Amino acid sequence: MKISKIVNVTMSSLPPFEDYINEIKPIWDNHYLTNQGPIHEKFRVKLKEYLKTDGITLFTNGHLALEAALSTLPQIDGEIITTPYTFASTTHAIVRSGYKPVFCDIRFDNYTIDASKIESLITEKTVAILPVHVYGNTCDVHSIEDIAKKYNLKVIYDAAHVFGVEIDGKPIIQFGDISMLSFHATKVFHSVEGGALAYNNALYEKELDLFKNFGISGAECVDKVGFNAKMSEFHAAMGVVNLKYVNDEIAKRKIVYEEYGQFLKNINGIKIPSVDINVKQNYAYYPVIITEEYPLTRDELFDKLKDNNVFARKYFYPIVNEFNCYKNIYDSNETPIAKYVSDRVITLPIYGDIDLEVVREVCKIIGN
Ligand SMILES: *Cc1c(COP(=O)(O)O)cnc(C)c1O
Repeated sequence: MKISKIVNVTMSSLPPFEDYINEIKPIWDNHYLTNQGPIHEKFRVKLKEYLKTDGITLFTNGHLALEAALSTLPQIDGEIITTPYTFASTTHAIVRSGYKPVFCDIRFDNYTIDASKIESLITEKTVAILPVHVYGNTCDVHSIEDIAKKYNLKVIYDAAHVFGVEIDGKPIIQFGDISMLSFHATKVFHSVEGGALAYNNALYEKELDLFKNFGISGAECVDKVGFNAKMSEFHAAMGVVNLKYVNDEIAKRKIVYEEYGQFLKNINGIKIPSVDINVKQNYAYYPVIITEEYPLTRDELFDKLKDNNVFARKYFYPIVNEFNCYKNIYDSNETPIAKYVSDRVITLPIYGDIDLEVVREVCKIIGN
C-alpha cells in the first residue's frame, strides 16, 4: 500500500527551539560571532568529554577538516591507499591536497576497506592509509595499525559516520593518527554544518588551529599557507545543544534498526547489516544489498519504493572510481566487491523520529 506521506532517507534532528535560543542569547551581549569564541570553546570541551579524547579541533565542515588532516602529513605528494566505497569527499580531499588515491577493495561483510589487500598496494610512494568507517561500521583497526607500523605510514580515518561508536569499550576515533568527524545536518549528530578532527598527539593542535585560520599566528605574523575553516558561534551552539540529545537520538535509531532487521531478515535476496557484538553502534544508516535471489533488481526495487512515496538512496552508487572525474584514470573492475555492493545497495530511511508504522510499511513493500 502506498504510504500517504513522503518518507525521505533521513530527516535532520532538531533540539527544542527554546534550548537553541538560550544557547545563542549571550551572543547579543558579547558580539562574538566566530573566530574561536566562548561557545566554540564550550562545544570543544563537551565533545572531548563525550568522545573521550584529549585532542579535538573544530572546523566549518568535515571535508575541510579532512583536508586539514592531510596537511599534517610529512610529505606534500605521494600515494594514499583508500576505499572507493565512500562519499565523494574522501577521495576529493586526497586529490585536492596533491596526493594520488590508490583504491583498495572492500570487505563484503561490513563494506569497510579489506585490510588483507592493503599490503600489496604499498609502494615507495605510499605516505598514508585513509580508510572509512562506512555506515558506522568499524574498519579492521588492529590490522591497519600493524600494517602502518610495519611500513611507517600515517593513518587518517574518515570517521564521518561513526560519532559515538565504540569497539570493545574504546571509542573508534582513538585509532589511527587522526580521525575526521562530520557534523553535517544529515548525520546522527550535527551542528547544521560542521566537523572536527580527533587525535591523541597534542602537537597537532597548534598546527591545525593555524591551518584553519589562514596560517595566521599573530597580528603581524603568517606562518603557513592555510585556509578558512573556522566554526562559527551559531554552529557551535547547535552542537552544544544537540549533544544533550544525541544519546536519545541513537536509542531511538536502535529501535528502528531492530524493527527493520525483524522484518527483513526472512526475505530471500535481501542482505541486512550484520551485527558485531563487541561494537557499540550508532545506527547511522540501514544499507541492504539486493542479491540475485530477490525477484527484482536493485533499480526496480528502488523505483517501486519511490512509487510508494519512499525515497530511499543508492548510497554509495556510483563508486568513486566510476565518477566522471575519475573514471578515465581508474578501473572499477579492480575493486570488484565495491562494484558489486555499489550496484546492489539501497539505504533505507532511518532517523530517530521515523514512525515505526512507516518502517513496517517499507518492509511490506520490499516483502511482496
Ligand atoms: C558527510 C561525509 C563527509 C563530508 O562531511 P561534510 O561535513 O559534509 O563536509 C566525508 N566523508 C563521508 C564518508 C561523509 O559521509
